[in-house]
Amino acid sequence: MPLADFSRTELETLLASFGEPKFRAKQVAEWLNKGARPQEMTNLPAALREKLSEIPYGGVEIERKLVSEKDGTVKYLFRLEDENLVEGVLMRYHYGNTLCLSTQIGCSMGCRFCASTLEGCVRNLTVGEMLGQIFAVERDEPATEPGHRTVTNLVLMGSGEPLDNYENVVAFLNRVTAQDGLRISARNISVSTCGIVPKIDSFVKDAPHVTLSISLHAHDDETRTSLMPINKAYPIGEVIAAAKRYADQTGRRVVFEYALIGGVNDSLQDADALSNRLRGILCHVNLIPLNPVPERGLNGVSRADAERFCQRLTERNISATVRREMGTDIEGACGQLRRRILHEIRGQNGNR
Ligand code: SAH
Repeated sequence: MPLADFSRTELETLLASFGEPKFRAKQVAEWLNKGARPQEMTNLPAALREKLSEIPYGGVEIERKLVSEKDGTVKYLFRLEDENLVEGVLMRYHYGNTLCLSTQIGCSMGCRFCASTLEGCVRNLTVGEMLGQIFAVERDEPATEPGHRTVTNLVLMGSGEPLDNYENVVAFLNRVTAQDGLRISARNISVSTCGIVPKIDSFVKDAPHVTLSISLHAHDDETRTSLMPINKAYPIGEVIAAAKRYADQTGRRVVFEYALIGGVNDSLQDADALSNRLRGILCHVNLIPLNPVPERGLNGVSRADAERFCQRLTERNISATVRREMGTDIEGACGQLRRRILHEIRGQNGNR
């Protein structure tokens, strides 16, 4: 296991095996909670730093960074130790900064509109690689006030399907929210899923205070299956029933994401049918004008059309908003920056 993955208890076992006293585990854990490498752990004896350096770290470095001139949104391309690349986005709001991070390299879910899935899933990210995305950002841009963090909110909405990397994601959330971890409140964290129903049910038990977002994108099975292959395994009725169980059990609103796709799911009749589907569920609909992916031949909608769809839902007593578009000048949809850079790298090195 890479060093960055070690929890406090696991460090205690490791350091005991090195014959180190227990307080060393606390020291190392505190360093790891800042993303420090062994050589930076200055309060440890040199020999221990040396021993820790021999363990693969499993860290994350910044490969590229694009800053939006419009709203300060930053798109990061992170490099992992095996040279794989993943994306993250830092968005600035009045209440703090939200980091959108990746949970897998690529994705195997095959959603038709999504660039992250075009080449399948390479592998799951480790706990340390998910934490490392936070540390890389915070080291790049340290908090201005002592005792504060740059990253105050997290959304697991980058590349990958979080519930397809279930154990690591739950362990990551535990580390992030723990008092002896990063101490980010679970209420400031959202996890987005394409709707793996049995995992939703266990997630409610394993991470009850985290906000659950479900990518719905349609109100009927036919359309949803044509957009999201996972709908064949878990049809929309089962997904909505699982969402209702989450809302009922936690008392928290479930968020439904609905990407508006021109001519596919964006008519006012669609809004009516969607509102009928969601009636009686404690929920909010987050409307996202599709970020067109040229490879997939699907169109977006105008802001005005998105607002009309939103208004129709609101009139029918379904809480809804259109997602504010951020960083539109820096790169398009999820996975597009990674794809462009991978193409550049492959272009330089011939066809790999
Ligand atoms: N796998 C998870 C989380 C990652 S995707 C999920 O499916 O929810 C985060 C969100 O972005 C999802 O709602 C996804 O459907 C949406 N998305 C992906 N590609 C998009 C695009 N081109 N335009 C708009 N939304 C997109």
